[in-house]
Amino acid sequence: MNTIIYPLNTGYIRLDKGAYITPGDGYGMEVEVPTWAFFVTDGKEKLLVDTGMSETKSADWHHKGSHQPEGFRIDEQLGKLGVKPEEIDAVFFTHLHWDHCSNMKLFSNAQFYVHEKELAFARDPHLLYHKSYESKKLGVVPPFDGVEFQIVDGEFKYNNFITLFPTPGHCPGHQSVEVKTDQGTYIIAGDAVFADENMKPDHHRNLPFTPMGRYVNVFEMFSSMETIFDRADHILTGHGMGVSFTNVYP
Ligand SMILES: [Zn+2]
Repeated sequence: MNTIIYPLNTGYIRLDKGAYITPGDGYGMEVEVPTWAFFVTDGKEKLLVDTGMSETKSADWHHKGSHQPEGFRIDEQLGKLGVKPEEIDAVFFTHLHWDHCSNMKLFSNAQFYVHEKELAFARDPHLLYHKSYESKKLGVVPPFDGVEFQIVDGEFKYNNFITLFPTPGHCPGHQSVEVKTDQGTYIIAGDAVFADENMKPDHHRNLPFTPMGRYVNVFEMFSSMETIFDRADHILTGHGMGVSFTNVYP
């Protein structure tokens, strides 16, 4: 097996560290975090996990000050690897928040995999989470409007190196992607493990890791993190600086 994972930075989100990443520490501190999508290939299949965030005007509407630099759009980042959008066979969505599924229609030959609960929630988001999605209720046409999905409703083995598994909590239908490589199991965790800080012990609450501050169900979020830490040899976060440690994994 010669599976390779390329992290693709699709832009930067500005958020409050205490509110989003480390509850109890860093309230009022604005930070900027990268927004990762991942290209996964065994040399034959060309696969994506998420399609990343939207352009600056829309990003700024979601989270003031967020921006997508020139050349960071998902197809532009893939282009740097010599991959065209129409070559992608499948896209696995961790979830359908605006910063994970923008520009999906560029992938004209891909099958789109999403968890059943996530699609249902994204099509009719609760008022509290309106701006995490894009919704006609807010006068915004979401990127998944009219798209046909492959629906997943539990653990799903796609092939001999990719398995999707449910990791709800951050949102109702979040899932993570297990990738088997020669160097062990990588979990592309999406926002179930948001940033580097979330992998460190939480000394305030005496916990082995730090649950993030933004969720729809705190108990599900906690057990999803436990599952990920159990299954993973290596974790790739949705918004951590640490992902940029190298251009290619393993
Ligand atoms: Zn995100």
